[in-house]
Amino acid sequence: MFTLPALPYAMTALEPFMSAKTLEFHYGKHHQTYIDNLNKLIAGTELENETIESIIMKTAGADDKAAIFNNAAQTYNHDFFWKGMRPNTDITEPNDQLFEMIEKSFGSMGDFYGELKTAAVSVFGSGWVWLVLDGETLKIVKTANGSNPLVDNLKPLWGLDVWEHSYYLDYQNRRADYIEAVLRNLLNWDFIAANL
Ligand code: MN
Repeated sequence: MFTLPALPYAMTALEPFMSAKTLEFHYGKHHQTYIDNLNKLIAGTELENETIESIIMKTAGADDKAAIFNNAAQTYNHDFFWKGMRPNTDITEPNDQLFEMIEKSFGSMGDFYGELKTAAVSVFGSGWVWLVLDGETLKIVKTANGSNPLVDNLKPLWGLDVWEHSYYLDYQNRRADYIEAVLRNLLNWDFIAANL
């Protein structure tokens, strides 16, 4: 039985970049619904007592388990997404290790932000963009709908939801403005470092 994890900040903490109204719907309704659906789908099955990661890995690519996979992945993805942000007043910076890895993997911090933004803007329809660890290298990957990098044996370090429900109330169709606002103001480097 999965439950909605507490947000690591107040509902108003990400304003003005992400409104309490958006969190009310995105966290309170969308995220909650994925968890409720997952609990219903796994009740009484062999997946009932598995971890979220294990459910994702065991249902990935199985046509008859698509509903379980989608809801499990979205349960995981959203928890990851909320933790990957912090209020704009709690500034975090990449530590030395991350800074070095970013320069090695992307060239510079500017190139890293550029690549992340380009990838996020170019996700067609609903999906996610991720910073992942592939061996010793950092990479940016996109996933469609609810999928996530675990199924490709990549280690997620940070994820950005680019489904319309994550920005429509605040930015309407302006996805690029939403991405820019999150990257400039809400990115939690401490969370990324902790996932390394
Ligand atoms: Mn979402």
